[in-house]
Amino acid sequence: MKCTDCNKRVATQFQPYTLCDGCWAERFSKQYINGKSIPFKKLFQENLEKRGLWIKDGESRDSWNERCALKGKKSKLLNGSKISESEGKETSTVGTG
Ligand SMILES: [Zn+2]
Repeated sequence: MKCTDCNKRVATQFQPYTLCDGCWAERFSKQYINGKSIPFKKLFQENLEKRGLWIKDGESRDSWNERCALKGKKSKLLNGSKISESEGKETSTVGTG
């Protein structure tokens, strides 16, 4: 069964309409922050922009994906254990201190 909004992707949501994940998120997914109901995708975009990770003018999707993946690999928050480039030994942010 196809999504009734985009009529392209397979529907994965059946209440209140037959929608794919993307179209369902477009219509209904919201976060309540600082007294406002903000569409999830807008909030996600703003968070990426704050981190300098939103797609740049003229940047290809592949290049953008690569940039985000690289940032994720370098992040201590997203990557609990990693090889430290400066020290050359394995470090961990889990259970230290
Ligand atoms: Zn759709």
